[in-house]
Amino acid sequence: MLGGDARVPGVPVAVVIGFSSAVVAALVTEVYCHRCLAHGAFRVHRFLASLLDTYFQVVVGTHPQTWAAVHRLHHRYADTPLDPHSPLQRRPLTVLAGSPFLFAIARRRLPPDTPSGRGIVHLGLRGLLVGSFFVMFGLVQVLTMLAVHLVCYLGVMGMVNTVGHLYGRKPHPDSPGYDLAWLAIPLLGHGYHNSHHAHPAAARTGPLDPIWPLLRVLSAVGLVELDDRRTRVASRACCGASTPLVVRP
Ligand SMILES: [Zn+2]
Ligand SMILES: [Zn+2]
Repeated sequence: MLGGDARVPGVPVAVVIGFSSAVVAALVTEVYCHRCLAHGAFRVHRFLASLLDTYFQVVVGTHPQTWAAVHRLHHRYADTPLDPHSPLQRRPLTVLAGSPFLFAIARRRLPPDTPSGRGIVHLGLRGLLVGSFFVMFGLVQVLTMLAVHLVCYLGVMGMVNTVGHLYGRKPHPDSPGYDLAWLAIPLLGHGYHNSHHAHPAAARTGPLDPIWPLLRVLSAVGLVELDDRRTRVASRACCGASTPLVVRP
């Protein structure tokens, strides 16, 4: 085992791996599940899409289409009693810390044929992944990695759903949420939450959106197909009544 010898100066390796893993999971969630699948802000090359489908089901434990469908419920019913995670309808602490619990409740409202992402292959791959880390690092380090990963990943998701609907400016008074520009960097562009609700299909959320340069690079190498018109057009079509995945209120 690598155990206590494998360290970045001053920081246990388990913390570095757990944090890095959470950053990658948050990036995949934001770029693929959120902007691409939930809102159709751009198209992703089918090879990359297949890779991200597998990654998300193994690491996060649900199907990207299911995540996207629950998120569209949030847009359609934002800050109403049907919103899966509104801090105006529930205690903010519940929204901040209870993302998995609220997600599990919301997914019951999706059509029964919505993909679960709990196939035997993905369960097997997850077991293989955790088992490999256990052999390399030992039980304590693996538990530390998992704890850091979960706190950081779920923390970002909870912050978006909580702070984004409670504090900041409201440049679009008719739309839910608030803009808090400095939060855009740690929250992967979601500091502009009011603007996002007003323009959900825009590939770029605002001037400090850290995802935007990544999208430009992915577009330059042919892995993402950006439609520049959509970055300028306010469109709520992706969250509208015709959205095929979500049928039950
Ligand atoms: Zn929102
Ligand atoms: Zn959204």
